[in-house]
Order: sequence, then C-alpha cells, then structure tokens
Amino acid sequence: MPLDGNGGYTVRRYTLDFDWTAPRTPFAASTTIDATATQALSRFDLDFAGNALREVTVDGTPARAVRDGDELVVTPARPIPHGGAFTVRVDYTADPTLQRHRGDAIAEYGWVPTPDGTVLYPQPDGAKMIFPVNDHPSLRAPVTFHITTPPGLGAVANGKLVERVRRPDGHVRWTYDSEHPVAAQLIQMAIGKFAFVAGTGPHGLPLQDVVPDGLVPGTKAYRALTSEHLTWLERRLGPYPFRRYGVLVADTDLPVALETQSLSVLPRADLLGDRIDAERNLVHELVHQWTGDSVAVRRWSDLWLSEGHARFYERLYSGTHGGDGFESAMRTAYERHDQWRHDDGAPAEPSSDAHLFKQMRYDGSALVLYALREKVGEQTFDRIERSWVTTYQGRAVGTQDFVALASGVAGQDLSAFLTPWLYGARTPPMPGHPDWRPDPVQD
Ligand SMILES: [Zn+2]
Repeated sequence: MPLDGNGGYTVRRYTLDFDWTAPRTPFAASTTIDATATQALSRFDLDFAGNALREVTVDGTPARAVRDGDELVVTPARPIPHGGAFTVRVDYTADPTLQRHRGDAIAEYGWVPTPDGTVLYPQPDGAKMIFPVNDHPSLRAPVTFHITTPPGLGAVANGKLVERVRRPDGHVRWTYDSEHPVAAQLIQMAIGKFAFVAGTGPHGLPLQDVVPDGLVPGTKAYRALTSEHLTWLERRLGPYPFRRYGVLVADTDLPVALETQSLSVLPRADLLGDRIDAERNLVHELVHQWTGDSVAVRRWSDLWLSEGHARFYERLYSGTHGGDGFESAMRTAYERHDQWRHDDGAPAEPSSDAHLFKQMRYDGSALVLYALREKVGEQTFDRIERSWVTTYQGRAVGTQDFVALASGVAGQDLSAFLTPWLYGARTPPMPGHPDWRPDPVQD
C-alpha cells in the first residue's frame, strides 16, 4: 500500500467531529489535525477517500485543497517552516455508506451500517474513508472524538467517555478521548441504540461492553468471559497494555471481528453461536491489544507479527477449553504450509497486497511461533514473548526486531533458524517432529 501515509509532518492529535443524523445518511463532519512539520512544507498530503469536501483551512486561513485519488493535497496560503506547529481543519460531508472490498479475511471495510447506526472497520487502509488522516500502521496519535447523536441513540469510541452534554433540542454530544495514541486502522466510533454494560477485570481494570439493546441477554454468557480471558493472557503476556477494555457487539451480518483499540468489535453471530468459536474470537481480539495494537507493525508485510501471535494464543487457549488440540492444529497448519507459501507468499513476505490477510498470516504465522517454541523450549519461548510485548509496548516494530529480540533472550543467534521459516520458498523441518510432512503443492 505504497501511497498510504505521508511525509513531512507528524500528527500530535486528531479531533474528530461527527454530527450524526441517521443510518446511511450523509452528515456534517470535521477533522482538526494538530501537526508539527518535520521539514519546510509548501504543501502536504493527507489520506482521504470519498466524502464531499467542503473547506480546508491551515491555521484558520483557507488553503488550496486538491483531490488526487485517495490523496488530499493541501497547499497552505503561507509555507510552514521546518519544526513549525500547524493546525489543519477539514470540513466535509461524511458518507456513512462508504466501503471497500477485499478478497481476504477483511471482506468489507470502512463504514459498516447497522439497523440504527454504524460501526467502523478501518483495517487495513479504510480510515481515510472516515476522516482525513495520515493512514499508516506505524503512525499513531491521540484522538478526541466529539459525536453528536439524535435523541435515543448512543455513541462510543476508543478510550474514555470524558463528557456527555444534552442540548436543549435533545441531541447529545459525546466526547471520548483515546487516552493512548492509536493507529488509524484501529479507530472505533459506533452509534446505535446501545446498552453500556460495565464490569471489572483483573486488578480493577474497567470493563465496558457496548451492546445493541436487543442483544444484551443473548450475548451475555460469552461476554462475561472477558475477565477470565484477561487473567489467562496476563499469565503469559504480562499486564494488559491499556486503561480499559470492552467488547462492542456489531449488529451486522459481516462475519468479521476487529481489534479496534481498547474496544474490540465482534459481530453478533460470534456471540450467539457455539462457545468454542466465540471464545476463539474473543481471545483472538484480546491478544491483539498486546500484539497489533500496543505493539504495532511497522509496515503491512510485518502483519504476521500481529496475526500470528493472535492466532497462536487463540489456538493455545482453545486447545484447553474444548477446541481442537493445539498440537493437532499446528500439525494441520504444517501440512498446508507449502501450499500457503505458494499461494500467498512466506509469512513475512506476502506475495501482494491482495494476499495479505490470508491463512498464511494466521495459522501459517502461528506455526512459525510454534516452531520457535519447539526449537528453544517452552520456558525460553515464554520469556521471548513477555519481553516482546514489554520491550516494544507503544512502538512500531518489524520482523528483524523480533528475530533480534528472540536471539537476545534465547542467548543464541536464531536468524539462521527463523529466516527460512519467515522468508523461504519451502517449509523447513519442524523441530521435534521429524515425521511431519507438508502436503504436495497444487497449482
Ligand atoms: Zn486478528
């Protein structure tokens, strides 16, 4: 996704204003970006797709703004000096039906309408359909959300509710603060007839699920497991990395869950069906809060670091909670690994953008972590994992960072072992399992 993200400035904060009216109905929106120039700027780009642009100002003065594909090219009235702080405001009419499609696990993304509102699925590059942004997985900034809703509707976003003001006309203005910097792909902002279901996790962690009114009783049994899941994961990965957590239940047919930061979104079907599948999805998105959200990827080719860990612990948990045995799931992945390499590229080298969110990045990448565990032993592997999420908390990292950290913790150079697993054309032998064989590749 070479055009995503822009150079020349860093964003200090996004302030998003949404004046919501009704599902699938255009509404007034504005985005204010506080930024600092990292070079002298006569113009700069934002990522912005669709929506109807009304006006762009820089430091209060109207600026020239030209759309070029998904780029919004802004030329301020006066150049911005290197190191200068500046504020961009973009007024637009938002189109809450904007979506794109991918032929992988993402399916539809962007705005996902619900019967009485919306949820967001920005991953991987859909944030630009929601607001003008520097949309790159390695870039994060704090976000303030101001969301105005008509009477009877609620709103939620990443982080903490800091203010809720009822206006004389009955509309309510909700203000949320992300509390931590957040990558554009992990933004959440949802509107609907919601119940806010509060709870408490380990060490008093505030939990709050956000659930469409009619789905509260039906989803309660599995939502109530979050605290147990947190305890199980904290034993392996250390303290949960954010100040709060919750499950946002999406009233949508889209069968996709997403690790939006501190508030994972799960489609209603995930919480109304079989317990084993529900727990796999709940644990998967929760793991992502450590790997993918807190520890971000530097570029999309590093996605295996996010999805591989999430699938690894999802399967490890499920293996002792009624699901498929962990080792048998890994053996199945091993058998298919050469085929996945052929179809979608090696774990750390996706063959193209279109092959990004394929099985290779999920079970195929969990298998790399399993191979590492077989190589160094469970105790050393656990120390590597703990060190990974601690050392790189709040940072964006790449594959070589993982190889270097694993080698350091294990006290042995693991690059000769991991490189063929991560980049090779063929699946290496599995340590400790000389009888495992990849299935032959079919063209
Ligand atoms: Zn995932």
